[in-house]
Amino acid sequence: PVRLRVAPSPTGDPHVGTAYMSLFNLAYARQQGGQFVLRVEDTDRARFREDSEAQLYDMLGWLDLTWDEGPDIGGPYAPYRQSERLETYRPYVERLLADGHAYHCWCSTERLAQMREVQQKTKQPTGYDRLCHGKTREERAQLPGFSETPVVRMLVPDDVPLVFDDVIRGSVSAPRPDDQVILKADGFPTYHLAVVVDDHEMGITHVVRGEEWISSTPKHLLLYRWLGLEAPRFAHMPLLRNTDKSKISKRKNPAARLTWFREQGYLPEALVNFLALLAYPPQQDAEGVDVEVFTFEEFSRTFDWAKVNPIGPIFDLKKLEWLNGVHIRALDVGDFAGRLLPYLVADGILGDTQSLGELARLRSVAELIQTRMALLTEAPALVRPFFVADDQLVIDDDARAQLKPDAGDVLDAALRALGDVDDHGTGVLGSGGDWNAATIEAALREAVVEGLGIKPRFAFGPLRTAVSGARISPPLFESMEILGKTSTLNRLRALK
Ligand code: ATP
Ligand code: GLU
Repeated sequence: PVRLRVAPSPTGDPHVGTAYMSLFNLAYARQQGGQFVLRVEDTDRARFREDSEAQLYDMLGWLDLTWDEGPDIGGPYAPYRQSERLETYRPYVERLLADGHAYHCWCSTERLAQMREVQQKTKQPTGYDRLCHGKTREERAQLPGFSETPVVRMLVPDDVPLVFDDVIRGSVSAPRPDDQVILKADGFPTYHLAVVVDDHEMGITHVVRGEEWISSTPKHLLLYRWLGLEAPRFAHMPLLRNTDKSKISKRKNPAARLTWFREQGYLPEALVNFLALLAYPPQQDAEGVDVEVFTFEEFSRTFDWAKVNPIGPIFDLKKLEWLNGVHIRALDVGDFAGRLLPYLVADGILGDTQSLGELARLRSVAELIQTRMALLTEAPALVRPFFVADDQLVIDDDARAQLKPDAGDVLDAALRALGDVDDHGTGVLGSGGDWNAATIEAALREAVVEGLGIKPRFAFGPLRTAVSGARISPPLFESMEILGKTSTLNRLRALK
């Protein structure tokens, strides 16, 4: 069975690229009935960030990109955090040293910086000049630029194979590597050694990662060969790009941070759909028509590496917004109401726990707004009027400014007409007796449109403002039904 992994480094807010890589890894793992492993590559202690790992679980969990083994849930190859595997790497380093494939290097960082500067000035190829190679510690200590704690470097041969077979790209050729460090002075392995040892030890069959790692693959293949290990297959995913073709990065793009998408009100299934479409063509229906909207399961079921587009996809957030609206409308209304809750709680519209009455009301409101939203963050403004006390409703300035001189007449006529509607037995939903959208509409049309001879477009504006505080709001009559008679009349009176 296949085994795939995603191997993020906990160096800050999780990157959208991590979700994108996870998605493609997981789609294939699930399709093949294999496993998907989450491994935390925390060997870079300078960039390590304590809270990163928890954020990673939170975000991948939110996206429902679930792993079968990982630091948090364990598994047969635990530990899954590289900082806890230092003993695992040691014998591999010893063996490479013993076989002459690796050597100690005592060059100080100052010396290496100088060397690089000279190489650049004199237009020589950059890379380690092998000053330490073949020297004992004592011999090397006689020369300048000596550091007490050595690193270990790979001795990259002249005939290092540079061409390899990529699942997505076919035959790929990479530049010649220099004598890469594999063990650092702090005793931690570098990425290159740790990734090879762990992918081997964890039985990884397919390494699916970003195209920026293509240049590292020859180093990894050398390590596999020297250690007598079978190499996995490699698939290098195209990086996500801005319209100017630059790669999206956390420094430049807020949307490179995964947390941004939840903050902005995107649904996880819309983001997953979007990330899939970035490097993969639409699905086809029975008639062969393109279908751009799909679930993870649909994607995974038909996934085929041959269809992955190796050209860097443009990160087009307009497309995501459209997909989000489509996915919002596809939700069951109860589910949709549940998705709104965290945004409403964050805005203080609802408390941390909600009464059954509040939940029932939210569900009714959700039904009204579900077709009118592209982002979940639009919900608080639409929902707030249904949860504030009548005397706390804020009328926005724009809506107030647009009230015509005849607004008072409209409000009076509406008050009289609605006052006569029987709301006997009004329950938590505010709708008892005849108090429902159809009756409300009929009463208002008769009293305002026909009674006062005002066109519907103008007749209902002041009522909308009174009830919701805004010119744009969920449908008026349904809103009045949900608010109930008492609240509706209170609000109409308050605007007079
Ligand atoms: P920045 O994006 O600013 O470079 P960073 O340095 O923290 O931030 P990296 O550590 O380079 O980001 O990348 C984190 C993960 O995200 C890596 O697995 C990398 O492959 C992936 N990644 C980075 N940039 C992209 C991109 N443009 N498209 C897809 N994946 C990316
Ligand atoms: N830790 C590396 C990264 O974040 C993993 C690369 C790989 O998948 O080999 O990007």
